Amino acid sequence: INKDMRTSFQSVQAARQKVSEYKAHPIVIQKSATVYDAIVQLFLEDVGTIYAVDENGHLAGVISRKDLLRATLGNKNHEELPISIIMTRMPNIVMIEQGETLLDAAKKMIDFQVDSLPVVKEIDKGTHTYAVLGRITKTTITKAYLEILGQ
Ligand code: ADP
Repeated sequence: INKDMRTSFQSVQAARQKVSEYKAHPIVIQKSATVYDAIVQLFLEDVGTIYAVDENGHLAGVISRKDLLRATLGNKNHEELPISIIMTRMPNIVMIEQGETLLDAAKKMIDFQVDSLPVVKEIDKGTHTYAVLGRITKTTITKAYLEILGQ
């Protein structure tokens, strides 16, 4: 087995890695929280994106760094502004499920130009109801890449 064969074997392995094995804990916030709360949480948890959930813990929105920066621009009362006004809302959220692969996740992040995907379990597709189980970020993919290459 030569170097090329090993590399292509590793690539195939990489494509098969399941989201369920690589997902990180989701960082969530109540959708009724303010932009101020979201900024504090972003720093406390040291993440780039947080997920907004409703009273039942179901996915309601995504708030990224850029959303928070935008909300603070030219907005005097941004600290009291509810995140539900500025978040990317259902049904526009790009999600991934446990059984999908890291390759699926990587493709979605590139195709939709986002840095993170909530890992969800479908509760009711018709009403866009999903439970949040975790997150896959570009960091997840980078870490897996190193791991698969044995670095
Ligand atoms: P950043 O704002 O730090 O560059 P992103 O590139 O992930 O982070 O976010 C860009 C925009 O896409 C933001 O408006 C954000 O709300 C939205 N976004 C982020 N992740 C998702 C996702 N999984 N599905 C839909 N929209 C998302």
